[in-house]
Amino acid sequence: MKKFNIPEYYKSPVISKLKAKRKLEDPRKQDFSPSSISFHNVEFVISRHFGFCFGVENAIEKSYDAIQSNPDKKIYLLSQMIHNPEVNNDLYSQGVRFIQDTEGKQLISWDEINSDDIVIIPAFGTTIETSAILEKKGIDGVTFNTTCPFVEKVWNRSKTLGENAYTVIVHGKYSHEETKATFSHSQQQSPTIIVRDISETQHIIDYINGEISSDKLLQLFKGKYSDNFNPEKDLNRIGVVNQTTMLASETQEIADLFKTTLIAKFGESELKNHFADTRDTLCYATNDNQSATLELMNTTADLAIVVGGYNSSNTTHLVELLQQKFKTFFIKNESEIISKDHIRSFNIETKKLEELKFFLPQKEKLKIIITSGASCPDSAVDKVMQKIMYILGTPLVESDFDI
Ligand code: SF4
Repeated sequence: MKKFNIPEYYKSPVISKLKAKRKLEDPRKQDFSPSSISFHNVEFVISRHFGFCFGVENAIEKSYDAIQSNPDKKIYLLSQMIHNPEVNNDLYSQGVRFIQDTEGKQLISWDEINSDDIVIIPAFGTTIETSAILEKKGIDGVTFNTTCPFVEKVWNRSKTLGENAYTVIVHGKYSHEETKATFSHSQQQSPTIIVRDISETQHIIDYINGEISSDKLLQLFKGKYSDNFNPEKDLNRIGVVNQTTMLASETQEIADLFKTTLIAKFGESELKNHFADTRDTLCYATNDNQSATLELMNTTADLAIVVGGYNSSNTTHLVELLQQKFKTFFIKNESEIISKDHIRSFNIETKKLEELKFFLPQKEKLKIIITSGASCPDSAVDKVMQKIMYILGTPLVESDFDI
C-alpha cells in the first residue's frame, strides 16, 4: 500500500515499532490476534489494527502539502478533514479554516471564498451540490480533493444499483458528511433512503408488510429520502450500501431483514428480481479494525480504552463492541485521564462526556486493552499509555521504548 508523508508528531516511537514488527511477521494480515507490551506492572493488550487508514493518511498528506506549498493563499476545508480533534486543531493552528461544521452548518459564507483560495475536500467526500458551488466559483476541486477511494467505491456501487433500477438503501448516519455525500450521489441515479439502524429499518419492513401507510413511512423518514422516492413503487427492488464505517454485523442484519421480507413477499425464486445480494461497502480499515476488536473480545482484561474523536463513526463502533465485554473508556486523548480514580469518558448512548470517579482498579498487576479509530494518530495512543504509567508512579523512560 502507498506510503504517505505525514507529520512526524503523529507517529509514535512505541506503536510504530510494534506495527512494523507485526507487519513483518504477518504481511498478508491473516493474524488478527492482539499484541502485548508490558511496562512495570501493566500489560497493555494492543489491537492488531487501529490508527490512521489509507484515506486519512492521504487526506493528511494533501492538506499539509496545501499549507506548505501555498503560504500566500487562504486555505479552507469544507468541514473537519477527519473526525479527530487533534488533527483538526493542528490544521486550524496552521491557518486552515473550516467552511462548515460537521452538521453542515455554514461557518464561513461562500461570499468570502473565491477562485484564488484553496478549498480542501475532506476524506468523506462532498455532495454534488457543494461541488457545483466550487465549480461555479472557479475553485479547483481536483488538486486538493482528498475523497477516499473507498468512499468513491460506495458511490460507484450506488450508481450501478441505480442503473439496474434498484432503490438504494444507505445504512449510515444521516448527519455524517460521508452519508450526506453518498446520498447526494446516489439520488442522481436512483430513489434513495437512509436508515441508521435496525429499528429504522423495521419501519420500512413494516411498510413492505402493509403494517404502516406510505404517509406514515414518509413522515418517519422526513429529510432522509430523495425527492424521487415513492414508497408505493420503490420498495419492491432494493439494494443496500453502507457508510464505510458502520458496524459490519448491523449492515448484515439490515440486508438479511430486507432479504427475508422480500422472500416472504415475492417467493425465493423471485428474489434476484427484488433484492441485490451484494456485499457490504465497508472499507478495509473498518473491516480490519472491527475484526481485530472482535479478537480483543477473546481475551480477558481489567478494562478497555478506545482513543479517538467523539464524532468518529468508526471509533464509536469499536467502543460499542468492546463495552459488550469490558468496562470501556472512550477518550479523545490523554488529557481526559486525570488520576488513578478520575477519568472523563464519552458515553456513546447519551452522547455526553462523563466525569467518572473510578478508573484503574487497585491491583498489583493491571491488564488494559487499548485501541483507537482510523482517524487517530498513533502518537495519541502512545501518550495515553505514558499518562497511565505516569499516574501509577512509574513514568516511562526512553529505554522503555525499546520494544
Ligand atoms: S475509514 Fe475507510 S473510507 Fe474512511 S477514510 Fe479511512 S479508508 Fe477511507
